[in-house]
Amino acid sequence: MSGTETAKIEVWWDMNDCPIPEGYDARRVRPSMERAFEKIGYTGPVSITAYGDQTKTPDHHLLALSSTGVAVVHTIAESTRSVMYRDMVEWRGQNPPPATMMIISDQVEGDFSWDLARLQQRNRYDLFQANSMKSRDDLLLVYYANWRWEQLLEEGGAPPPVANGLSSAAMFYCKSCNFDCQSLNKFRKHLSSYKHGMEVRKQSILSLSQILLFHNLSNKLFCQAQEAINPPDTRLSCVTKRWARNYPATPEHATAKIHVLWDMNDCPIPEGYDARRVRPSIERAFKEIGYSGPVSITAFADQKQTPVHHLLALSSTGVDFSHTLPWVHYSRMITDFEKWTKNNPAPASIMIISDEVASSKYRSTLICRKLQKSNYNCFLAYSVRPFEMPVLVTSAEWLWDNLLAVSETKRNILHKCSESESERVAASTGMFCCTLCLCDCKSLDDFNKHLSRVHYSRMITDFEKWTKNNPAPASIMIISDEVASSKYRSTYICGKLQESNYNCFLAYSVRPFEMPVLVTSAEWLWDNLLAGRISSQDQTYEESSPEGVFSPEIITFY
Ligand SMILES: [Zn+2]
Ligand SMILES: [Zn+2]
Repeated sequence: MSGTETAKIEVWWDMNDCPIPEGYDARRVRPSMERAFEKIGYTGPVSITAYGDQTKTPDHHLLALSSTGVAVVHTIAESTRSVMYRDMVEWRGQNPPPATMMIISDQVEGDFSWDLARLQQRNRYDLFQANSMKSRDDLLLVYYANWRWEQLLEEGGAPPPVANGLSSAAMFYCKSCNFDCQSLNKFRKHLSSYKHGMEVRKQSILSLSQILLFHNLSNKLFCQAQEAINPPDTRLSCVTKRWARNYPATPEHATAKIHVLWDMNDCPIPEGYDARRVRPSIERAFKEIGYSGPVSITAFADQKQTPVHHLLALSSTGVDFSHTLPWVHYSRMITDFEKWTKNNPAPASIMIISDEVASSKYRSTLICRKLQKSNYNCFLAYSVRPFEMPVLVTSAEWLWDNLLAVSETKRNILHKCSESESERVAASTGMFCCTLCLCDCKSLDDFNKHLSRVHYSRMITDFEKWTKNNPAPASIMIISDEVASSKYRSTYICGKLQESNYNCFLAYSVRPFEMPVLVTSAEWLWDNLLAGRISSQDQTYEESSPEGVFSPEIITFY
C-alpha cells in the first residue's frame, strides 16, 4: 500500500442513489469528501464525476458542482450504473496502481461487484465506498473505507469562499450522444435539443426490445439476440468474462511457495489409483506452467473413512491430513488457509481442490477477499467444471482426473528429473491433524487412536457442560453402543448419576452383552425406537422418581 496515501483519488458518484439533500450547498460536496479522505490519511488529488439524469438537477446545483471542479455527466436513469462501470474500467486501463477508487452508489452488488472483485485480484487499487441505504454489506469487495452518504456530506466545513480557478477543469458530458462542453448554457441547450431527444429515444427502444426479447426467448437465444443488436448502455459488461484461465508464472511467483488445500470428498482418489502419485502429479502440473516452488499439501476429509493404505501412501509422500466432519469441512479449510497466509506473506500461491469452492461465490468469498488484498496467486482443481466462471481469478485450472493423470503420462521424465524431489519427500512425512480438537499426531497409529477416542470424549465434554447449566432433576439419554456396553466408557456418567438426581435413558443398536453399569429408567433398541415400537424385551421401569418423569428438559446425545 506504500505510496497510495498520496496517490490520486478518483470518485464515481451516482447522484440518483446519493442525491444532494434539500437545502445543502453543493459547493460543500468536494471539501467534505477531501476532509473525509484526509482524516484517514489519504491526501492525493481528488477528481469527482457526478452521474445522473441532469435534466432533473437544478441549475444552481450544477453551477455549484462545476465551480468546485466536479465533472457532471448526463445519463438516462437505466444506464447510470453500466456507464459508470464502463468509465471505471477505462480509467483503470489508463491509471495503473497505486491509486484510490471511490464508488458512491447503492447498486454495487451483482455483476458489478463480481467483475470488479476479479479486476481487483489482478490490479489492486485502494477501494472506498459510500452509499445511502441501510447498507446490505457487499462482502465480495474489500473496501479500505466506507461511509454513509449523509455523514460524508457533513465531514467538511464551509464551502470554498471564491471559485478557485478549478472551474475551467469542470466539464459537462452527455453519455448518450458523446457530447461534452464547458458551459452550463450549452449543456442545457444540448439536453433539450432534437438530436439529443432522438438519441435517448433510440436507446429506450433498444432497451425495451431487450426486455421483450427476454420475455420471449430462452436465455441462450436471448444472449445471441443481444449480441446481434448493438447493445445500448443499459447492460453492464463484465470485462473479466473474456479472461483466459491460464497464465504463465510471473518471476515473483515462479519459485514462491505453493500451498494446496485438497477436499478429498469432492475430489477423491479414484479406485485403483496409487495414492503416492498424487503429489508428483500436482507438482508436475505446476512445473509445466512454470511454477517450481516448494509444495505443501493438506488433505481434508473425515479421515475415519479414508482407507489406511491411502493414509500411509499419502503421508509417505509428505501430504498432511486434516480430520474434519462434513458440516465443518469448508470452514476448516478456510481456517487453514488463513493460518497459512499469516505465516506465508505474498507473493505465494494457493491451490484449492474443491468443487464447492470453485462453483460457489459464497464459499469462495473469503479467499476472493484475500486475493484482492495481497499478491497471492490462485489455482483451482475440480471434479466437475463449474457452471459459472468462478469469482476467484486463477492462473490455471484443472479437472481433477486430468490432474491425476499428469504423472502417468510423464512418468519417465519424472523419474529422471525428480530425484531430489523424492529425497525431500521421503524426509518429510505428513502430519496428521484433527481439526475438531486442534491436535497434531506424528504417526498414523496415533492418529487412528485419537480418532476412535475423540468421539466419546467430546460427548462427555458436552454432557459435563450441560449438567453445569442444568442442575438435577433432569434426564439424560445416551444413544451409543459404546457407552452402553463399556463400563469404562460410562464411568463418568455413572459418577454423575450417583452424585445427583439425574434420570438416565439408553438406546443402542445392539443389546449390550452385560447389564450396563448405568441404572436407567428405560432402554430401547435403536431400530425399535425409530419405528416407534417398544418390544416386550425393552426394559422399562415404573419406579422412576416423579421429578425425573415430569422434568420438562430432556437432552439427547447421539
Ligand atoms: Zn445528448
Ligand atoms: Zn481430534
